[in-house]
Amino acid sequence: MSDCIFCKIVHNELPSAKVYEDEHVLAFLDISQVTKGHTLVIPKLHIDDLFQMDSGTAERVFSPVPEIANAIKEAFHAEGMNLLNNNGAFAGQEVFHYHLHLIPRYDHTDGFAKTFISHQNDYSPADLQEMAAAVRNKLQ
Ligand code: AMP
Ligand code: ZN
Repeated sequence: MSDCIFCKIVHNELPSAKVYEDEHVLAFLDISQVTKGHTLVIPKLHIDDLFQMDSGTAERVFSPVPEIANAIKEAFHAEGMNLLNNNGAFAGQEVFHYHLHLIPRYDHTDGFAKTFISHQNDYSPADLQEMAAAVRNKLQ
């Protein structure tokens, strides 16, 4: 995609700080560095988001992730890591070339926070069974 900044990074038309590269996958430092070592893993071929990803691409994109995660953890002595992938504008996606955020964690004031809000009380066990069945239905 000619106007995609991550495609431009793949083709070296924009600068980036690369940490990993193979035939299909590139990982480079996120310019925002939410925490030190914050890295993006992308497929080299443009796809907008996870919803467009086929299983072969998924295999290629995710298979180097544990190795990259461990390298970041060791390089910066991280205590943990959050993986985040925003898909769609309502999910906070701003760059529409699929990317997985690797966000190393150091402590509770390092710049990233888990903000899940539990709605457990809004769903009965029967509701959950019905919802799971609705998804299973779509998987068939
Ligand atoms: P998202 O909101 O999940 O789409 O995240 C997009 C991410 O891309 C943000 O964290 C940006 O900081 C990052 N980003 C945007 N432009 C660049 C760039 N030229 N190099 C590295 N990271 C970038
Ligand atoms: Zn792209």
